[in-house]
Amino acid sequence: MTRAEVHEGTGQTADLADLYPADRIGLAAAAAARAGIGALLLTPGPDLRYLTGYDAMASERLTCLAVPADGPAFLVAPRLELRSVQASPAGRLGVEIVGWDETDDPYYLVAERLGRPESVGLADQMWATMVLRFRDALPGARQGVASAALRGLRIRKTPAEVAALREAGAAIDRVHGRVPGWLRPGRSEREIAADIAAAIVAEGHARADFVIVGSGPNAARPHHEPSGRVLAAGDAVVVDIGGTMPSGYCSDCTRTYVIGPPPPEFAAYYQVLRQAQAAACAAVRPGVSAEAVDAAAREPITAAGYGEYFIHRTGHGIGLEVHEDPYIVSGNTEALLPGMAFSVEPGIYPGPHGARIEDIVVCTPEGGERLNNATREMVIVDL
Ligand code: ZN
Ligand code: ZN
Ligand code: ZN
Repeated sequence: MTRAEVHEGTGQTADLADLYPADRIGLAAAAAARAGIGALLLTPGPDLRYLTGYDAMASERLTCLAVPADGPAFLVAPRLELRSVQASPAGRLGVEIVGWDETDDPYYLVAERLGRPESVGLADQMWATMVLRFRDALPGARQGVASAALRGLRIRKTPAEVAALREAGAAIDRVHGRVPGWLRPGRSEREIAADIAAAIVAEGHARADFVIVGSGPNAARPHHEPSGRVLAAGDAVVVDIGGTMPSGYCSDCTRTYVIGPPPPEFAAYYQVLRQAQAAACAAVRPGVSAEAVDAAAREPITAAGYGEYFIHRTGHGIGLEVHEDPYIVSGNTEALLPGMAFSVEPGIYPGPHGARIEDIVVCTPEGGERLNNATREMVIVDL
């Protein structure tokens, strides 16, 4: 199978074999060998999806892709789910799929088939109950995290992954294009958030992952939960939204709107923020450290006297997870490489209002490419 519908009914196609290439399991095995890990054990979550394309449902019944550093990978799944596993993208990889019955111990089964390796790399988000069951099934085996091997692969997006992130960026940009129509005085943050969540799906996402609508004083709280607060004239409204596309790749974009004429000091620092966000995006290129991008955002904000109000890191990597490596933060000296994708999202929150501007940026050989292109001008919603 070369071209396939990623998910039925979404109307969205992508080349699954490009996005989730079959050679990735081999690359993961080689990376495990380099990291000194005997086998990777990947339960449902982003690591499993990265290697197989399989968006497996997490449950108490063990589904686990075992990737030995040396030897064939296999996928263990409950027998009652075998049909759906075979029909999933994992079914096209040529990996042996091993069913287990309700009375079997699937952890023991994995341990035996692997020949009891001395160390295992567990999916970073494996449930603690499963970590402990594997500890019992593999007594004496050193347990570590799979990211010790997979980080270097997942952090550099392939052209197909960048295309998937670009598609996600365009979808969330379309939602932002519709946001001003919902920001009416008299409507609550919660009502607006419900409209936005529906639009995130309507514009092509498989699901909405988060909707932050922070109005007035709530705009000064970076991770504010939408509340019953009713919008009023003069409010700044921070709208930070994202979802997961049928491809598995995520969007995340923030824009700050104003209801009618802005308070004068807000208009002043909004321009500082815009310049800071642009400066950080312009700083992106291979070889530049993650913390240098953070500094590029922070310097103009500090110079303008708002440094103490920029209270979070500049950004986070994005891919199959909305927050992943690399983190754009002071202290992260890691050099950017082509294919790294991350947010650039400085904010200024002096109260009684605040602002944030966020784009996803991918590092290319030539520099940073923004994957969000909704206007970054201050959008004033007409009263
Ligand atoms: Zn955030
Ligand atoms: Zn965000
Ligand atoms: Zn973000």
